Amino acid sequence: MSAKQDSLLRFRLKRNLERLTAREGRGTELVSLYVPYGRQVSEVVAMLNNEYGTASNIKSNTTRKNVQDAITRVTQRMKMFKKVPENGLVIFCGAIPQNGPGSEKIELYIISPPEPIQVYLYRCDARFHTEHLQEFLKEKETFGIIVLDASNAVFATVRGKHLDVIKEITSGIPGKFKAGGQSARRFDRQREAKMQEFFNRVGEHANEIFLPIENLKSLLLGGPGPTKYDFEKGNYLHYTLNEKIVATVDTSYVNDRGVEEVVDKSEEILRRIRYVEEKKVMQKFLREIGQDTGLATYGEDDVRKYLNNGIVDTLLLSEDLENVRVTVKCGSCDYNKEETMKLHEVAEFEQKTNGSACPKCSVPTLSVEETKELIDELAETAELAGTDVEVLSGETEEGQMLKKSFGGVAAILRYKAAA
Ligand SMILES: [Zn+2]
Repeated sequence: MSAKQDSLLRFRLKRNLERLTAREGRGTELVSLYVPYGRQVSEVVAMLNNEYGTASNIKSNTTRKNVQDAITRVTQRMKMFKKVPENGLVIFCGAIPQNGPGSEKIELYIISPPEPIQVYLYRCDARFHTEHLQEFLKEKETFGIIVLDASNAVFATVRGKHLDVIKEITSGIPGKFKAGGQSARRFDRQREAKMQEFFNRVGEHANEIFLPIENLKSLLLGGPGPTKYDFEKGNYLHYTLNEKIVATVDTSYVNDRGVEEVVDKSEEILRRIRYVEEKKVMQKFLREIGQDTGLATYGEDDVRKYLNNGIVDTLLLSEDLENVRVTVKCGSCDYNKEETMKLHEVAEFEQKTNGSACPKCSVPTLSVEETKELIDELAETAELAGTDVEVLSGETEEGQMLKKSFGGVAAILRYKAAA
């Protein structure tokens, strides 16, 4: 998976989880089901049938009915799968009050996890259990850590929450010599040579540990004093590793605890890395606009046109876009129309449209066929054309600019469009 698809997948999951987390049932009647790859559909269906039976003991009539309805819906959906997909399957279903008590409607959500899920879980609760999916929103790339001072070096890797301290070595260099005069200068020279030798060893160990890691995202250096900077400047690492150093972190310790200090600060560091990526792509866009090269465009209509022509290299979307794309169809002829509007305008539009006269055949059979988030709709078109999609957060100045100055939709083109 490319980093760029990644920003879209993460955005979609984030949006879905925000919605699901906000849902609340009347009582204990919301069903969460996690099925990992490898489970038989028949086995899951049998478990659900069993749960349906157990639910018949629920005292409250309404709760019992809601729980059993939810289980029935989940079972029906489950049966539509011949096989559990590669990353597993997550279904949320339950009666959600739409407008106060008594207005519950069964809602069902199917989520395809971006990575394989391991957990097999059925829960019936007052909320949806989304926590096993929240995990996927965390940074998942592996990064390497070297914490060092003049006497020790520690090597570790971190992936998600998993921290591995791989190796610790010592330099054997004694502390600073206090005496003055000639012997002190000789001592300094010897110390210098020993330091070189130690840095070489640190470099060799680091190469051995980090080079084989296929998707090592970045390397962090830590330690209490200036030693880490001397090491960084001296090119003791393989050049591909040297290029991956993204930050140096001051720590109080040079051991497991020092590594943990780096990890504590790493979330912030990794977020900054994503910011830098966002800034870069936006600055590229601004350069093309500023120099009037014809290689950049913005605004939904123009971007859509170029997307459909297949000439968009990178599609830039603001995470804060709240527009939706509505498809209207006629039940009597082939008339159909798409329109973009704000999310809060949809209900009124739907009321106005449904059952009104078709402009083509005049039969009053128009209806809103589909409502889709604009981000999803544009991103899907982009994916068909092999276009990279960057969803920019509103947390950088550049991301704000995309939203405010360019309507949240912009594109960098592969080549200049014919006028
Ligand atoms: Zn019609």
